Amino acid sequence: MLWCGAMHISSSFDSGNIEVIDDKDPSAVRLRIRKDAGEDHFQWFHFRVTAARGKALRLQIENAGEASYPEGFENYRACVSYDRVHFGRVDTTFDGKVLTIIDTPRLDSVYYSYFAPYSLERHADLVAHAVCQPHVQYQRLGASCEGRDMDLLRIGQPDGDKKVCWIIARQHPGETMAEWLVEGLLHRLFDEDDPVAAALLHKAVFYVVPNMNPDGSFRGHLRNNAAGMNLNRAWAEPSMERSPEVFLVRERMMATGVDFCLDVHGDEGLPYNFIAGANGIPRFGPRLAELQHGYVDELIRRTPEFQKEHGYPIDPPGQANLSMATNWVGQTFDCLSMTLEQPFKDASNRPHSDGWTPKRARRLGQVQLDVLRSVIDRLR
Ligand code: ZN
Repeated sequence: MLWCGAMHISSSFDSGNIEVIDDKDPSAVRLRIRKDAGEDHFQWFHFRVTAARGKALRLQIENAGEASYPEGFENYRACVSYDRVHFGRVDTTFDGKVLTIIDTPRLDSVYYSYFAPYSLERHADLVAHAVCQPHVQYQRLGASCEGRDMDLLRIGQPDGDKKVCWIIARQHPGETMAEWLVEGLLHRLFDEDDPVAAALLHKAVFYVVPNMNPDGSFRGHLRNNAAGMNLNRAWAEPSMERSPEVFLVRERMMATGVDFCLDVHGDEGLPYNFIAGANGIPRFGPRLAELQHGYVDELIRRTPEFQKEHGYPIDPPGQANLSMATNWVGQTFDCLSMTLEQPFKDASNRPHSDGWTPKRARRLGQVQLDVLRSVIDRLR
Protein backbone atom coordinates (compact mmCIF):
# COMPACT_ATOMS: atom_id res chain seq x y z
CA MET A 1 0.00 0.00 0.00
CA LEU A 2 1.20 3.48 -0.85
CA TRP A 3 1.97 5.62 2.17
CA CYS A 4 0.23 8.77 1.01
CA GLY A 5 -2.97 7.35 -0.57
CA ALA A 6 -5.11 9.18 -3.08
CA MET A 7 -5.27 12.95 -3.34
CA HIS A 8 -8.09 14.35 -1.23
CA ILE A 9 -9.73 17.75 -0.76
CA SER A 10 -11.50 18.57 2.50
CA SER A 11 -13.13 21.58 4.15
CA SER A 12 -14.84 20.14 7.23
CA PHE A 13 -13.04 22.42 9.64
CA ASP A 14 -13.25 25.89 11.19
CA SER A 15 -13.93 28.37 8.34
CA GLY A 16 -13.67 25.69 5.66
CA ASN A 17 -15.69 26.18 2.48
CA ILE A 18 -15.55 24.21 -0.76
CA GLU A 19 -17.64 21.63 -2.60
CA VAL A 20 -15.79 19.02 -4.60
CA ILE A 21 -17.45 18.15 -7.89
CA ASP A 22 -14.64 16.01 -9.29
CA ASP A 23 -11.11 15.52 -7.98
CA LYS A 24 -9.97 12.51 -9.98
CA ASP A 25 -7.67 14.48 -12.29
CA PRO A 26 -5.24 16.77 -10.40
CA SER A 27 -4.75 18.84 -13.56
CA ALA A 28 -8.50 19.61 -13.77
CA VAL A 29 -10.00 19.56 -10.29
CA ARG A 30 -13.61 20.80 -10.34
CA LEU A 31 -14.75 22.80 -7.30
CA ARG A 32 -17.56 25.13 -6.21
CA ILE A 33 -17.85 27.62 -3.33
CA ARG A 34 -20.78 26.91 -0.99
CA LYS A 35 -23.29 29.75 -0.50
CA ASP A 36 -23.77 31.61 2.78
CA ALA A 37 -26.98 30.93 4.68
CA GLY A 38 -29.74 33.29 3.57
CA GLU A 39 -28.94 35.78 0.82
CA ASP A 40 -27.17 34.69 -2.28
CA HIS A 41 -23.69 35.54 -1.10
CA PHE A 42 -20.51 33.55 -1.52
CA GLN A 43 -16.85 34.24 -2.21
CA TRP A 44 -14.87 32.91 0.75
CA PHE A 45 -13.13 29.59 0.15
CA HIS A 46 -10.79 27.61 2.37
CA PHE A 47 -9.82 24.01 1.82
CA ARG A 48 -7.07 21.47 2.35
CA VAL A 49 -5.43 19.29 -0.29
CA THR A 50 -3.63 16.18 0.88
CA ALA A 51 -1.43 13.66 -0.94
CA ALA A 52 -0.74 16.03 -3.83
CA ARG A 53 2.98 16.58 -3.25
CA GLY A 54 4.74 17.21 -6.56
CA LYS A 55 1.49 17.09 -8.54
CA ALA A 56 0.79 19.95 -10.93
CA LEU A 57 -2.60 21.05 -9.59
CA ARG A 58 -5.16 23.09 -11.47
CA LEU A 59 -7.95 23.79 -8.97
CA GLN A 60 -10.91 25.19 -10.89
CA ILE A 61 -13.60 27.00 -8.90
CA GLU A 62 -16.42 26.83 -11.41
CA ASN A 63 -18.93 29.23 -9.83
CA ALA A 64 -16.40 32.04 -9.18
CA GLY A 65 -18.00 34.21 -11.87
CA GLU A 66 -21.32 34.13 -9.95
CA ALA A 67 -19.70 35.09 -6.63
CA SER A 68 -20.79 38.23 -4.76
CA TYR A 69 -17.92 40.32 -6.18
CA PRO A 70 -16.51 38.66 -9.29
CA GLU A 71 -14.28 41.70 -9.85
CA GLY A 72 -12.55 40.59 -6.66
CA PHE A 73 -11.08 37.68 -8.62
CA GLU A 74 -9.52 39.89 -11.29
CA ASN A 75 -5.79 40.36 -10.75
CA TYR A 76 -6.16 38.19 -7.68
CA ARG A 77 -3.83 35.50 -6.34
CA ALA A 78 -5.07 32.83 -3.94
CA CYS A 79 -3.47 32.37 -0.50
CA VAL A 80 -1.50 29.23 0.33
CA SER A 81 -0.12 27.88 3.58
CA TYR A 82 1.57 24.67 4.70
CA ASP A 83 2.02 25.45 8.39
CA ARG A 84 -1.11 27.66 8.84
CA VAL A 85 1.19 30.36 10.21
CA HIS A 86 2.88 31.70 7.08
CA PHE A 87 0.77 32.60 4.06
CA GLY A 88 2.01 33.11 0.54
CA ARG A 89 0.26 33.54 -2.79
CA VAL A 90 0.06 31.24 -5.79
CA ASP A 91 -0.60 31.75 -9.49
CA THR A 92 -4.32 32.21 -10.12
CA THR A 93 -6.25 32.99 -13.27
CA PHE A 94 -9.83 34.18 -13.79
CA ASP A 95 -11.62 34.15 -17.14
CA GLY A 96 -14.80 35.81 -15.86
CA LYS A 97 -16.34 32.45 -14.96
CA VAL A 98 -13.78 30.04 -13.54
CA LEU A 99 -11.09 30.85 -11.00
CA THR A 100 -8.14 28.52 -11.50
CA ILE A 101 -5.51 28.08 -8.79
CA ILE A 102 -2.28 26.71 -10.24
CA ASP A 103 0.22 25.18 -7.86
CA THR A 104 2.50 22.19 -7.35
CA PRO A 105 2.51 21.46 -3.59
CA ARG A 106 5.91 20.63 -2.15
CA LEU A 107 4.47 18.89 0.93
CA ASP A 108 1.80 16.27 1.68
CA SER A 109 -0.77 18.70 3.11
CA VAL A 110 -1.51 22.24 1.95
CA TYR A 111 -4.26 24.82 2.55
CA TYR A 112 -5.68 27.23 0.01
CA SER A 113 -7.93 30.14 0.97
CA TYR A 114 -9.39 33.43 -0.24
CA PHE A 115 -7.32 35.27 2.39
CA ALA A 116 -5.30 34.16 5.41
CA PRO A 117 -7.99 32.64 7.69
CA TYR A 118 -8.53 33.87 11.24
CA SER A 119 -9.96 30.82 12.98
CA LEU A 120 -12.33 30.84 15.94
CA GLU A 121 -9.59 29.02 17.87
CA ARG A 122 -7.23 31.91 17.20
CA HIS A 123 -10.02 34.27 18.23
CA ALA A 124 -10.38 32.30 21.50
CA ASP A 125 -6.59 32.56 22.00
CA LEU A 126 -6.72 36.32 21.44
CA VAL A 127 -9.51 36.77 23.97
CA ALA A 128 -7.76 34.47 26.49
CA HIS A 129 -4.54 36.46 26.10
CA ALA A 130 -6.52 39.67 26.55
CA VAL A 131 -8.16 38.65 29.82
CA CYS A 132 -4.69 37.97 31.29
CA GLN A 133 -3.62 41.58 30.71
CA PRO A 134 -3.85 44.33 33.30
CA HIS A 135 -6.52 46.97 32.56
CA VAL A 136 -8.66 44.45 30.65
CA GLN A 137 -12.17 43.44 31.61
CA TYR A 138 -14.03 40.74 29.72
CA GLN A 139 -17.76 40.70 29.17
CA ARG A 140 -19.86 38.04 27.46
CA LEU A 141 -22.59 40.06 25.80
CA GLY A 142 -24.73 37.02 25.06
CA ALA A 143 -24.93 34.42 22.33
CA SER A 144 -24.90 34.40 18.54
CA CYS A 145 -27.71 32.63 16.63
CA GLU A 146 -25.93 29.29 17.06
CA GLY A 147 -25.02 29.86 20.69
CA ARG A 148 -21.43 31.08 20.36
CA ASP A 149 -20.21 33.65 22.88
CA MET A 150 -20.25 37.29 21.82
CA ASP A 151 -16.97 38.52 23.31
CA LEU A 152 -16.45 42.13 24.39
CA LEU A 153 -13.14 43.41 25.75
CA ARG A 154 -12.92 46.61 27.75
CA ILE A 155 -9.44 48.07 27.97
CA GLY A 156 -8.91 50.83 30.52
CA GLN A 157 -11.01 52.16 33.35
CA PRO A 158 -14.06 54.19 32.39
CA ASP A 159 -14.72 57.51 34.08
CA GLY A 160 -16.90 60.38 33.02
CA ASP A 161 -14.09 62.36 31.41
CA LYS A 162 -12.59 59.58 29.34
CA LYS A 163 -13.47 59.27 25.68
CA VAL A 164 -15.31 56.09 24.77
CA CYS A 165 -13.75 54.34 21.77
CA TRP A 166 -15.44 51.34 20.12
CA ILE A 167 -13.70 49.07 17.64
CA ILE A 168 -15.63 46.26 15.96
CA ALA A 169 -14.54 43.79 13.29
CA ARG A 170 -15.75 40.94 11.09
CA GLN A 171 -19.41 41.78 10.73
CA HIS A 172 -18.62 40.18 7.38
CA PRO A 173 -16.88 37.00 8.52
CA GLY A 174 -14.95 36.32 5.32
CA GLU A 175 -13.12 39.62 5.78
CA THR A 176 -10.59 38.02 8.07
CA MET A 177 -8.05 40.84 7.64
CA ALA A 178 -10.34 42.82 9.94
CA GLU A 179 -9.54 40.59 12.92
CA TRP A 180 -5.85 40.49 11.99
CA LEU A 181 -5.90 44.29 12.21
CA VAL A 182 -7.65 44.24 15.57
CA GLU A 183 -5.10 41.73 16.88
CA GLY A 184 -2.28 44.18 16.07
CA LEU A 185 -4.17 47.05 17.66
CA LEU A 186 -4.94 45.10 20.85
CA HIS A 187 -1.40 43.81 21.31
CA ARG A 188 -0.10 47.36 21.16
CA LEU A 189 -2.76 48.56 23.55
CA PHE A 190 -1.74 45.81 26.00
CA ASP A 191 1.94 46.80 25.87
CA GLU A 192 2.56 48.70 29.09
CA ASP A 193 5.89 49.94 27.74
CA ASP A 194 4.25 51.59 24.75
CA PRO A 195 4.00 55.32 25.48
CA VAL A 196 1.25 55.93 22.92
CA ALA A 197 -0.92 53.17 24.36
CA ALA A 198 -0.35 54.50 27.87
CA ALA A 199 -1.20 58.05 26.82
CA LEU A 200 -4.39 56.88 25.14
CA LEU A 201 -5.50 54.80 28.10
CA HIS A 202 -5.05 57.88 30.26
CA LYS A 203 -7.65 59.66 28.14
CA ALA A 204 -9.85 56.91 26.76
CA VAL A 205 -11.51 53.60 27.46
CA PHE A 206 -11.74 51.05 24.65
CA TYR A 207 -14.53 48.61 23.91
CA VAL A 208 -13.45 46.04 21.34
CA VAL A 209 -15.48 43.30 19.64
CA PRO A 210 -12.84 41.38 17.65
CA ASN A 211 -15.41 39.14 15.97
CA MET A 212 -18.99 40.33 15.38
CA ASN A 213 -19.98 37.19 13.46
CA PRO A 214 -18.58 33.99 15.02
CA ASP A 215 -21.18 31.72 13.34
CA GLY A 216 -20.43 33.01 9.87
CA SER A 217 -16.70 32.73 10.64
CA PHE A 218 -16.95 29.06 11.56
CA ARG A 219 -19.26 28.24 8.65
CA GLY A 220 -16.93 29.79 6.08
CA HIS A 221 -19.40 32.52 5.07
CA LEU A 222 -18.45 35.65 3.21
CA ARG A 223 -21.06 38.08 4.55
CA ASN A 224 -23.97 36.60 6.52
CA ASN A 225 -24.67 35.22 9.97
CA ALA A 226 -26.24 31.79 10.55
CA ALA A 227 -29.74 33.25 10.12
CA GLY A 228 -28.78 34.57 6.71
CA MET A 229 -28.57 38.22 7.80
CA ASN A 230 -26.00 40.69 6.54
CA LEU A 231 -25.18 42.19 9.95
CA ASN A 232 -24.00 45.46 8.46
CA ARG A 233 -27.55 46.08 7.22
CA ALA A 234 -29.15 45.25 10.58
CA TRP A 235 -28.24 48.24 12.75
CA ALA A 236 -31.48 50.21 12.37
CA GLU A 237 -33.68 47.37 13.64
CA PRO A 238 -31.70 44.40 14.95
CA SER A 239 -33.59 41.50 16.52
CA MET A 240 -32.60 38.82 19.02
CA GLU A 241 -34.00 36.21 16.61
CA ARG A 242 -32.15 37.07 13.41
CA SER A 243 -29.33 39.48 14.33
CA PRO A 244 -28.58 39.02 18.05
CA GLU A 245 -24.91 39.85 17.35
CA VAL A 246 -25.83 43.43 16.42
CA PHE A 247 -28.66 43.69 18.95
CA LEU A 248 -26.30 42.87 21.85
CA VAL A 249 -23.48 45.18 20.76
CA ARG A 250 -25.88 48.03 20.03
CA GLU A 251 -27.45 47.64 23.47
CA ARG A 252 -24.02 47.89 25.12
CA MET A 253 -23.13 50.95 23.03
CA MET A 254 -26.30 52.65 24.27
CA ALA A 255 -25.14 51.99 27.83
CA THR A 256 -21.56 53.25 27.38
CA GLY A 257 -22.12 56.04 24.86
CA VAL A 258 -19.70 56.34 21.94
CA ASP A 259 -17.17 59.09 21.09
CA PHE A 260 -15.32 57.15 18.38
CA CYS A 261 -16.16 54.05 16.38
CA LEU A 262 -14.07 52.13 13.89
CA ASP A 263 -15.79 49.27 12.04
CA VAL A 264 -13.12 47.16 10.33
CA HIS A 265 -13.76 45.38 7.00
CA GLY A 266 -12.12 44.08 3.84
CA ASP A 267 -13.00 44.96 0.27
CA GLU A 268 -12.98 42.26 -2.40
CA GLY A 269 -12.49 44.52 -5.39
CA LEU A 270 -10.38 47.57 -4.57
CA PRO A 271 -6.66 46.92 -4.05
CA TYR A 272 -6.23 49.68 -1.44
CA ASN A 273 -6.70 50.55 2.20
CA PHE A 274 -9.26 53.28 2.64
CA ILE A 275 -11.81 54.87 4.95
CA ALA A 276 -15.52 55.10 4.22
CA GLY A 277 -16.98 57.80 6.44
CA ALA A 278 -20.45 58.61 7.70
CA ASN A 279 -20.65 61.57 5.29
CA GLY A 280 -24.29 60.96 4.39
CA ILE A 281 -25.79 60.96 7.90
CA PRO A 282 -28.07 63.90 8.77
CA ARG A 283 -25.76 64.93 11.63
CA PHE A 284 -22.63 65.06 9.47
CA GLY A 285 -21.59 68.71 9.82
CA PRO A 286 -18.33 70.67 9.94
CA ARG A 287 -17.24 69.15 13.28
CA LEU A 288 -17.49 65.52 12.14
CA ALA A 289 -16.06 66.41 8.72
CA GLU A 290 -13.03 68.06 10.32
CA LEU A 291 -12.47 65.07 12.63
CA GLN A 292 -12.78 62.59 9.79
CA HIS A 293 -10.44 64.49 7.48
CA GLY A 294 -7.99 64.87 10.35
CA TYR A 295 -8.05 61.12 10.99
CA VAL A 296 -7.60 60.13 7.34
CA ASP A 297 -4.81 62.65 6.71
CA GLU A 298 -2.95 61.58 9.84
CA LEU A 299 -3.27 57.93 8.76
CA ILE A 300 -1.70 58.81 5.42
CA ARG A 301 1.11 60.67 7.20
CA ARG A 302 1.73 57.69 9.50
CA THR A 303 1.82 54.92 6.91
CA PRO A 304 2.49 54.69 3.16
CA GLU A 305 0.05 51.74 3.13
CA PHE A 306 -2.86 54.17 3.38
CA GLN A 307 -4.35 56.54 0.79
CA LYS A 308 -7.52 58.48 0.01
CA GLU A 309 -7.59 58.65 -3.80
CA HIS A 310 -9.38 55.31 -4.13
CA GLY A 311 -12.48 54.34 -2.16
CA TYR A 312 -16.27 54.21 -2.27
CA PRO A 313 -18.39 57.02 -3.73
CA ILE A 314 -19.34 59.43 -0.94
CA ASP A 315 -23.00 59.38 0.15
CA PRO A 316 -24.77 62.67 -0.66
CA PRO A 317 -25.88 64.67 2.43
CA GLY A 318 -28.71 62.94 4.27
CA GLN A 319 -28.63 59.86 2.02
CA ALA A 320 -26.72 57.49 4.29
CA ASN A 321 -28.07 53.99 4.90
CA LEU A 322 -28.70 54.05 8.65
CA SER A 323 -28.85 50.25 8.84
CA MET A 324 -25.03 50.23 8.47
CA ALA A 325 -22.98 50.30 11.66
CA THR A 326 -20.87 53.34 10.81
CA ASN A 327 -23.87 55.44 9.88
CA TRP A 328 -26.09 54.29 12.73
CA VAL A 329 -23.36 54.94 15.31
CA GLY A 330 -22.39 58.32 13.84
CA GLN A 331 -26.02 59.45 13.70
CA THR A 332 -27.01 58.10 17.13
CA PHE A 333 -24.00 59.39 19.05
CA ASP A 334 -22.98 62.39 16.90
CA CYS A 335 -19.43 61.06 16.91
CA LEU A 336 -16.53 60.24 14.60
CA SER A 337 -17.56 56.91 13.10
CA MET A 338 -15.79 55.26 10.18
CA THR A 339 -15.51 52.03 8.23
CA LEU A 340 -11.93 50.96 7.53
CA GLU A 341 -11.52 48.79 4.44
CA GLN A 342 -8.46 46.69 3.65
CA PRO A 343 -7.79 44.80 0.40
CA PHE A 344 -8.02 41.08 -0.23
CA LYS A 345 -5.51 41.53 -3.04
CA ASP A 346 -2.80 44.04 -2.24
CA ALA A 347 -2.29 47.70 -1.37
CA SER A 348 -1.43 48.73 -4.92
CA ASN A 349 0.18 51.98 -3.83
CA ARG A 350 2.81 49.79 -2.17
CA PRO A 351 2.65 46.37 -3.86
CA HIS A 352 4.25 43.26 -2.39
CA SER A 353 4.69 39.75 -3.85
CA ASP A 354 2.66 38.24 -0.99
CA GLY A 355 -0.14 40.79 -1.48
CA TRP A 356 -1.94 42.10 1.59
CA THR A 357 -0.97 39.92 4.56
CA PRO A 358 -1.85 39.40 8.24
CA LYS A 359 1.45 41.07 9.14
CA ARG A 360 0.58 44.20 7.22
CA ALA A 361 -2.95 44.19 8.66
CA ARG A 362 -1.59 43.89 12.22
CA ARG A 363 0.79 46.79 11.60
CA LEU A 364 -2.07 48.89 10.24
CA GLY A 365 -3.89 48.10 13.48
CA GLN A 366 -0.98 49.34 15.57
CA VAL A 367 -0.85 52.59 13.60
CA GLN A 368 -4.50 53.34 14.42
CA LEU A 369 -3.38 54.17 17.96
CA ASP A 370 -0.97 56.87 16.78
CA VAL A 371 -3.72 58.33 14.64
CA LEU A 372 -6.35 58.14 17.35
CA ARG A 373 -4.01 59.98 19.70
CA SER A 374 -3.89 62.90 17.27
CA VAL A 375 -7.69 63.41 17.50
CA ILE A 376 -8.51 62.09 20.98
CA ASP A 377 -8.81 65.49 22.66
CA ARG A 378 -11.25 66.72 20.03
CA LEU A 379 -13.61 63.73 19.96
CA ARG A 380 -16.26 65.24 22.25
ZN1 ZN B 1 -17.44 44.18 4.85
